[in-house]
Amino acid sequence: MSGDPPEGGVTLRELAGRPVTDLHGVGDKKATALAKVGVESVLDLLSYYPRRWLDRTREATIDELAVGEEGMVLVRVVRVSSRRTRNRRSLVEARVTDGTGSLTLTFFNQPWRERQLPEGTEAVVFGRMDRYRDRLQMANPVVDLVGDRTGRIVAVYPQSESAGLASWDLDALVGEAIRRVMKVRGFDDPVPAGVLARHRLTDRAAAYRGIHRPETMHEVAEARRRLVFDELLRIQLALVHRKVQLERSAQGIPHEDGGPGGLVAAFHDLLDFPLTGAQQRVVAEILADMARPTPMHRLLQGDVGSGKTVVAVSALLAAVQGGHQGAFMAPTEVLAEQHHLGVAGLLAGLEVGDDDSLFQRRPVGVALLTNRTTAAERRRIADDLAGGRLDILIGTHALIQEGVEFRSLGAVVIDEQHRFGVEQRDALRRRNPDGTEPDVLVMTATPIPRTAAMTVYGDLDVSVLDELPPGRTPIRTEWVVDDEEAVWAAVRAEVADGHQAYVVCPLIDESEALEVASAEETFERLLDGPLAGLRVGLLHGRVGPAEKEETMRLFRAGALDVLVATTVIEVGVDVPNATAMVVLDAARFGIAQLHQLRGRVGRGTAVSRCLLVGEATTPDAEERLRAMVRTTDGFELAEVDLDLRGEGTIMGERQKGRNDLRLASLRRDREWVEAAREAAVDLVGDGDGLHAHPGLADEVDLLLGDDEADWLLKS
Ligand code: ADP
Ligand code: MG
Repeated sequence: MSGDPPEGGVTLRELAGRPVTDLHGVGDKKATALAKVGVESVLDLLSYYPRRWLDRTREATIDELAVGEEGMVLVRVVRVSSRRTRNRRSLVEARVTDGTGSLTLTFFNQPWRERQLPEGTEAVVFGRMDRYRDRLQMANPVVDLVGDRTGRIVAVYPQSESAGLASWDLDALVGEAIRRVMKVRGFDDPVPAGVLARHRLTDRAAAYRGIHRPETMHEVAEARRRLVFDELLRIQLALVHRKVQLERSAQGIPHEDGGPGGLVAAFHDLLDFPLTGAQQRVVAEILADMARPTPMHRLLQGDVGSGKTVVAVSALLAAVQGGHQGAFMAPTEVLAEQHHLGVAGLLAGLEVGDDDSLFQRRPVGVALLTNRTTAAERRRIADDLAGGRLDILIGTHALIQEGVEFRSLGAVVIDEQHRFGVEQRDALRRRNPDGTEPDVLVMTATPIPRTAAMTVYGDLDVSVLDELPPGRTPIRTEWVVDDEEAVWAAVRAEVADGHQAYVVCPLIDESEALEVASAEETFERLLDGPLAGLRVGLLHGRVGPAEKEETMRLFRAGALDVLVATTVIEVGVDVPNATAMVVLDAARFGIAQLHQLRGRVGRGTAVSRCLLVGEATTPDAEERLRAMVRTTDGFELAEVDLDLRGEGTIMGERQKGRNDLRLASLRRDREWVEAAREAAVDLVGDGDGLHAHPGLADEVDLLLGDDEADWLLKS
């Protein structure tokens, strides 16, 4: 290692710079095996946390365990055999003993157990004692090969048979690594003592010892708390620091919304409904933020149908009021088109002051720009943008990335749907010739849990629309496993009542071509059979634009009864007369998607229903469908989704760099996310903070990658 002579404890960076081959007993072969599980440095090794801990103080003997009781016993394999059951499932049986008695372990569909448990193997098994034909047995017990390790608590590492790594190899290496760190200088601990004390967190040496070499399960719990906190703190430090830096360095536009005589108020007056309380509150939050000289970076969370569009348009108009322009970006072209229709409708009749025009008023100018916009239309848009005659431009991300020239871009709304990353947001910075940056409002299509928002969008302020407009009738959701005829009868009944229905075809992730084929097939099948005689339209990703538009127009106008579609209708489609949503093969869809789809109905005053069709193919799918039936609250569903999918997906979609979450779970550790956020805000202060904590800044740099480091270290 280079640089200053080390003082204080050993830092994570030093550990990251030490190859595992520096440890005794790591030769080429073991190094290769370790590399296969991602362990190359001593830090990697120390961060390779046990999967479980066996509390051997709770070990029982075979004769102590009563039938029906769960317990853990240390046994030796006497004999192992495998065969197939009558219904062709593989069955491995291991006869084991511990000196006090014998027992048979049975494993269904795990043929590899035969290799794992050759005669003479010692293993700790955990399971429920059963009796089967006069013999004691445990079915599918948890098995840990512990070797001859002693100690009251034994750490069990994720082992990799293919890499040839056993849990006890890792145990021995980790033990040595900790011993050697403690022998030199101990662990450096860059987290201020005050923070540790406030949250009653143990020191880092105790944390590493406690997670790898605990004496009691209490030590494991304490260690986990500390390490979880560290992971979450690093992420929050990066996010909070970034946020503060943005605010300090950026020059925004102070937007005055014009008060009661202004454009925003005029817009609200023109609406044929009053704003909900939540809309009023959130619009006020946004306008106050936009009035500040620093650019707004805000996340708007709201459930499907909570009326985010009206809020978004209010923000855009606050910019237009002062002679600036607004951009509204959607993730897909279909959505951009939908938004254009919707926004143009909302703004019809609204006028803006214009010194150049004859009567000093002109209609608010709105245009759509997508890949399909013709060259001539593009030129007109460019002219109008430069001339300031166009106020709001709607389109896909291409709006920003293709260098469309605004005269003065004052506000940007991004309808995110998890597809718009930090990089794209950066593309917005310094758009304007005078160096000012637009205010940015990011909208999620469906809610995400608070702690996830705090982590994934932690560099944004958050506004929440927690109220639906009045007059919505609840949607009845049913899960129909095998009675498709009842589903089509329900659709026919809705149509007979003068309503309309959607039928969403099975999702086929791998191939659009297959998905289109399946949609066409479903369409034919329904037309020829269950929905014969009804006016049915078809919409999928390969329908040409003109036809797509025509189909949507017909459906909106009520000239089609049923729209058979793929998920192209997932977001934004707004036809209040549609009262039935049928999702075929619903088990294939994620919760957010199902919730979005269901959000297409229940938009009018008639009772709506959602029919989720088909078997659950996995336990998770069953949970998803049950949750959908149980609640229509998007925030509650978001929590269920997080429980089921874990944070990986949410984090992964957003940014690759933030993969420091090894122990922490946004789900299990919700309160620690908040504690870490609070601590990070304190530590960063108003921007100079991390310079007072170089050790922490360096860890963030080390563990969260280069992008984050840039933000942390420059200022
Ligand atoms: P989402 O939050 O899902 O984007 P939208 O903005 O599309 O919701 O609004 C859903 C529907 O609710 C639209 O038809 C819209 O006109 C209507 N709406 C919005 N705000 C109100 C309100 N305050 N009162 C009644 N209807 C409203
Ligand atoms: Mg919407």
